[in-house]
Amino acid sequence: MTNSEKNLRAKPIIKEVYTQLSDSIEDNEITPHLVIIILGKDPAAVYYMNNLRKKGNKIGLEVNIEELSSQISQKQLISKIEALNQDDKVHAIMLQKPLPNHIDETEIVMKIDPRKDVDGFHPLNMGKLVLNQDSLLPSTAAAVLKILDFYDIATRGKKVTILGRSAIVGKPLANLLLRKDKTGNATVTVCHSRTSDLQKITAKADILVAAIGKANFVKKEMIKPGAIIIDVGVNQIKDSEKGYKYVGDVDYKDCLKKAAKITPVPGGVGSVTTSMLLANVVKATLKMKKNR
Ligand code: NAP
Repeated sequence: MTNSEKNLRAKPIIKEVYTQLSDSIEDNEITPHLVIIILGKDPAAVYYMNNLRKKGNKIGLEVNIEELSSQISQKQLISKIEALNQDDKVHAIMLQKPLPNHIDETEIVMKIDPRKDVDGFHPLNMGKLVLNQDSLLPSTAAAVLKILDFYDIATRGKKVTILGRSAIVGKPLANLLLRKDKTGNATVTVCHSRTSDLQKITAKADILVAAIGKANFVKKEMIKPGAIIIDVGVNQIKDSEKGYKYVGDVDYKDCLKKAAKITPVPGGVGSVTTSMLLANVVKATLKMKKNR
């Protein structure tokens, strides 16, 4: 197998997902409407949102970006969310990170109508995820499952190790991989910054998922020969040509030879995550239409 054949590329996945979404939008005669709230003007966040809007518009979604002041009070932000919850024309609400320090994120997430919670971070959606009930899934965790499923990588009975226990990636993903279904049934280990003998654990993994936010952290000594490597990390590092570039949590060049398959950064998990988020918008819209 050539090195490029080892790449678990996002492109064919998102092509399929976007085709299915635009067909579903047309067949069901819906115009899913996503509102993204951003506080302030973080350049990376603005870039991401504009990209999301472009992609959404292309498949028939309405995407509105509500730029609010970074000085907004907790109370004002809650009023804004409550107004969006009440608005029948809005099907999905997304809160763009980072949030200013004075904002209590936990309280804000609780205020989003769980039916419109496209990030899947509301405790009701998280609880449903753990209990294997239908819900809006956090898009990065959903993207990892999508990649494994698309490339026919079985998880049943496999040792899957996840680096990172965050509420948005590691925890939901671990629970999804434990489900008794086609993309579950794995034996899951979750590692974090207090894990001892990390390398001993990662080197036994059939599938290793890295989501820690540390550039090029995973080296070849840390992986099992023939392992599947899923790199969730997105880290900006200095680059002599362009000034900066993005790399994952896995040292791609170092691990390529030893791994059976690996997701590139960029062009891997991130792009699939965007498609999963837009899929959540369509799902939320269809569910609301059905229950109206
Ligand atoms: P986070 O909230 O900062 O969590 C990082 C996790 O990694 C924590 O559980 C932390 O352990 C653990 N960790 C940190 N250093 C470690 C080490 N040396 N050894 C073992 N574990 C370590 O990060 P996140 O939001 O989950 O994001 C993780 C990465 O994924 C970032 O690069 C982020 O940009 C990227 N990301 C990508 C996507 C995408 O769509 N591609 C989406 C979301 C995030 P403790 O809990 O002990 O602190």
